[in-house]
Amino acid sequence: MKKISTLLFLGLISLNLSAQKLTSNKKALIASVEQHKDNLIKISDSIWALAETAFEESKSAEILAKYAEENGMNVTRGVANIPTAFTATYGSGKPVISILGEFDALPGLSQNTVPTKDPRIEGAPGHGCGHNMFGAASLGAAIAIKEQIEAGKIKGTVKFLGTPAEEKYFAKVWMVEAGLWDDVDVNVSWHPGANIEADVQSGLSLIDFIVEFYGQAAHASADPWNGRSASDALELYTTGINYYREHIRPTSRIHYHIQDGGQVVNVVPDYSRIWVRVRDPKRKVMLPTYEQVKKMAEGAAIMANVDYKISLVSGIYETLVNRSGGEIMQKNLELLGPITYTDEEIAYGKSIQEATGKPQVGMDSNINPLRETEELPGGGSTDVGDVSWNVPNINLSVTVAPKDTPWHSWAVVACGGMSIGHKGMVYAAKAMGMTMLDLFENPKLVDKVKEEYKTRKGDEKYEAMIDGPPPIQGQ
Ligand SMILES: [Zn+2]
Repeated sequence: MKKISTLLFLGLISLNLSAQKLTSNKKALIASVEQHKDNLIKISDSIWALAETAFEESKSAEILAKYAEENGMNVTRGVANIPTAFTATYGSGKPVISILGEFDALPGLSQNTVPTKDPRIEGAPGHGCGHNMFGAASLGAAIAIKEQIEAGKIKGTVKFLGTPAEEKYFAKVWMVEAGLWDDVDVNVSWHPGANIEADVQSGLSLIDFIVEFYGQAAHASADPWNGRSASDALELYTTGINYYREHIRPTSRIHYHIQDGGQVVNVVPDYSRIWVRVRDPKRKVMLPTYEQVKKMAEGAAIMANVDYKISLVSGIYETLVNRSGGEIMQKNLELLGPITYTDEEIAYGKSIQEATGKPQVGMDSNINPLRETEELPGGGSTDVGDVSWNVPNINLSVTVAPKDTPWHSWAVVACGGMSIGHKGMVYAAKAMGMTMLDLFENPKLVDKVKEEYKTRKGDEKYEAMIDGPPPIQGQ
């Protein structure tokens, strides 16, 4: 009994201490996010249900833009010549602190909010990367900052950037080229995940390109000697790529997706098409590999006696980490403490883990310590990388799904549409808002973050890996 009461007492002290560390501005910011909470959840759920994919997110973008407008922000739609890209700003002068909001879904991942695989609409898209929460949380943070500027508590400009098509085409690269971060001092971003941490890990640089082979059609049996097969070229090309794998760096990856391999068996195909992707944690290592994989297309075309064409889709940089920014975020995570879950939510999480063959331990919402930055991280890639080479970026990961959940899967879609996802989304809005508040209040912190950015970037000149306008249907 004594032990329990001591623990209770200590618990009260620690609660009290963290409450004391919250400045009145931070308390006001948290209150503001709480005030918008129900609307943010509605926004997240609407975008979740729409599940619009790359460059087709017109309704999702409009939901966010409209809420920003209703809350007094100045909205510009269709920036960077992308109909679903927009900015929402408030305030004037320095510092300019920006925040990213994604909202695109992934094909084929439709799912109900149940902890076993159960598509809402068979074959339809779903938010398997949590971007429905991404945009909503970031807008929540931006509006909370706007309210602080409006109340005269802080000075400067807050800029929300609605960034579409992260999953397929990396629209931020065109947005960077359009100069949308040119006036920004520091950018803040987050990603839904299965843990809470100030993210100081990079990702992989990558480049996407399409190879098309053009041959001559003929009857596959009656006069094949009149044919030149585009699918032969395709097979020779992928064979070359697969032999080449032995000679690339262990950190590099080559993926391909055959998009057209001919239509019927009795025609020598005169056309084939393949989407190729090369990745490495370092862009400088990725580029020579990319050149070699491109060269092989010519070899395959010569062998099959066909013509070929290579078109760049887009490429993205690895993320430039900012540990000074990570430290600011870390302090705010520690102030907020872990997310707590109901018994029903824990049971839901365990059911997801059971269905995906993972240990049934529920959600991990402890605040991870700031980790060492890995020199050669594994994992995926993001166009936040390109933003991070143009302006310092502070990134956050917040739990929206149980521990070890397979990402880009139905399980993420399920959690993103119910309370586990909602809690993570609201938490992210608070953590990012508090971090932005620190930057507005302390010019020295902005300087420190910028200084680290300059040092890490060094002499490297940013060159966007795009060639022409974004591949938007109907443009
Ligand atoms: Zn994502």
